[in-house]
Amino acid sequence: MGIEINYNRKKELGFMLKKGSAMLSKTHIHAGIAAALAFATTYEAISPLGVISALAGGTAGAVLVDIECRAQNSSHDPAYGRLIALSIVAAAIIADLLLKAGLCLSALNQSRVYTLSGAALLLTVCVLGRFSAHRTFTHSVLYVALISTGFYLFCPAAWIYVLLGGVSHLILDTMNNKPVPWLYPAFKKGVCLNLCATDKIANKALMWFFLLFDLALLARAVWVLTHSAPV
Ligand SMILES: [Zn+2]
Repeated sequence: MGIEINYNRKKELGFMLKKGSAMLSKTHIHAGIAAALAFATTYEAISPLGVISALAGGTAGAVLVDIECRAQNSSHDPAYGRLIALSIVAAAIIADLLLKAGLCLSALNQSRVYTLSGAALLLTVCVLGRFSAHRTFTHSVLYVALISTGFYLFCPAAWIYVLLGGVSHLILDTMNNKPVPWLYPAFKKGVCLNLCATDKIANKALMWFFLLFDLALLARAVWVLTHSAPV
């Protein structure tokens, strides 16, 4: 059951909030990739397309939820996170082009109407998110559903991983001490479990846990792909 933080509790946690109650962007990225890779290597037959789409989509979904975060709010972490996310997505696209996995092809094969509608939806939702208050619209099921729909129209191979990356972000944020309004705008009050205060140690422990989990899933996927008999 969620715990609302009242004003006094916020004041009590004031020091902690200022010191960095937000999850590190890297933690969100690694968790988003973990959720996406777990799906791509468990619920589906392991394929280069699934692994590459999971890397790009899981990263995009995890980072887009914090699109409203600005450098002055929480040091330079949002900027670092976006740089890392862009590097991962770029690496995934290069791998896709080299291996001809099909991620870019899934976008190129879309009809022009779908591509334009997806791009317009993504642009509109991201602009609205960018200028919304912290942890309101962007930290809701509605926002994650809208960006996933945008990707479904624009690049269908990635949409499910964007959804998983976005949901992993909401779950992680719910674990700390600032409410997440899952059902915004219907219910503007959020919930948080206050399970981890996301001080630097807890944050880094989670980040390393998800990073190691990602590497294990990736190593398993590469092993399966390189050892499977050609069709
Ligand atoms: Zn967040």
